[in-house]
Amino acid sequence: MIEHWIGGRRAGSAETFTDVSPIDGRELTEVARGGPAEVDAAVAAAKKAFPAWARTTRAKRAEVLHAIADGVEKRLEELAITETEDNGALLRSHRRGVMPRVAHNFRFFADWLLRLEHEDFDTRGHTNHVSWDPAGPCALITPWNAPLMLATWKIAPALAAGDTVVLKPAEWSPRTASLLAEIAAEAGLPDGVYNVVQGYGDEAGGPLVAHPDIRRISFTGSVPTARRIAAAAAANLTPLSLELGGKSPLLVFADADLDLAVDLAVEQYDNAGQVCLAATRILVEQPIAEEFTERFVARASKLRQGDPRDEATDIGPNVHERQLAKIDGYVQRALAAGARAVIGGGPNTDLGGLYYRPTLLTDVEQSSQIVQEEVFGPVLTLQTFTSEDEAVRLANDTQFGLAATLATGDRDRAGRVTEQLVAGTVWVNCFFVRDLQAPFGGSRQSGIGREGGNWSFDFYCDLKNTVSAPKGWSD
Ligand code: NAD
Repeated sequence: MIEHWIGGRRAGSAETFTDVSPIDGRELTEVARGGPAEVDAAVAAAKKAFPAWARTTRAKRAEVLHAIADGVEKRLEELAITETEDNGALLRSHRRGVMPRVAHNFRFFADWLLRLEHEDFDTRGHTNHVSWDPAGPCALITPWNAPLMLATWKIAPALAAGDTVVLKPAEWSPRTASLLAEIAAEAGLPDGVYNVVQGYGDEAGGPLVAHPDIRRISFTGSVPTARRIAAAAAANLTPLSLELGGKSPLLVFADADLDLAVDLAVEQYDNAGQVCLAATRILVEQPIAEEFTERFVARASKLRQGDPRDEATDIGPNVHERQLAKIDGYVQRALAAGARAVIGGGPNTDLGGLYYRPTLLTDVEQSSQIVQEEVFGPVLTLQTFTSEDEAVRLANDTQFGLAATLATGDRDRAGRVTEQLVAGTVWVNCFFVRDLQAPFGGSRQSGIGREGGNWSFDFYCDLKNTVSAPKGWSD
């Protein structure tokens, strides 16, 4: 049974829901189904714990964060397996990429905290002292596609800043948030600093973001949910950070290293396409489109789809039958409207479970749903362009602005194109390289605000300027 974690203790709910594995439909566990009462208790615990944690020295806070990272590393295999069973993402990625990065999130923000400088400057003999004050209890709401990694991008800087948190993990991947509670308690995190309320979005997330004692809301998820959360935040004027969806382009110019470009394109099937940053719109310069497509098909057809616990698997299942149905709905509507499936085009029924065949669609209209909306599955579209201007126009022509990737051998072109792209992150001849000191976030409907380095502390702190006069002192 997965329960809530409130004030340093497990807490149940009268009702539960069942956590089902997307790998084989196995019922993994029952999960406490939180609502307003559990939210009230968790926020009260976070509020009670706040003053002492906020006053804890930076050195001590950093020490506890490092101890949490140690705990994550010690239980890495358990965390990796648990998350793979929960959301179907590859075990090998969890072992070697995701969970080590979870530990790194704590280490990075612990170290950054120790380097965070208060600013002092002089105004006509008066001293200005700018300090980063902890803000209070924070509501953190996270999705299922990279549950613990995305949650700890928020938990680590919030705790480093001296805030306390209430996390509402996604209902399709509830388990690692609770394991983290055990790890944090063993690492010496005081009771009430990290709280978890499990449950559904409307029932548990809704009351949490509307709570008047919440001082920050940090949300990663979809645009429709973000609108509801922003409306709730508006009622209390709670500052919020939104990391939302994307429909990012991969621009492949004729001067690109074609093998590299094909690798970048195939990489977009990672995590069965359930990656917010995925460059799902491949835009290829006309003269190389045919060769690019041939090489892409050759590479993609070597991908092994299957059980995500098998180290040889490249593509696992999608997270939930509702997600699979949503993906297939997008693809079937596109095919009905005249698109052509170069590869894939439907679920992989040979495997049973929730597997969708890696799909590449051509003959798609720029204004169509499949080009404009986030599918969040292993589905890419391919369009061609004949000039740099057209490439930039197509790349920017959606409501999103999360990321963009370009493949080109020409440095001048890379500079020109990058300057014109609307995106929070641009990768040139690479993909998914992420340093926590860089600002991360989206433009347009891909989000509000940035996470990483000082940007995270900007968000989780109340900046205060104290002006002291040179006179009036008794000494
Ligand atoms: P979602 O919006 O359906 O759910 C996200 C979280 O919000 C869940 O925990 C859910 O329970 C909660 N929620 C739902 N309704 C709520 C409400 N009314 N009030 C408060 N909380 C509520 O998103 P999802 O399907 O879990 O995740 C996929 C989406 O997340 C995709 O759009 C993806 O692009 C996006 N995403 C963005 C980033 C990023 O960094 N930009 C990273 C990963 C995923």
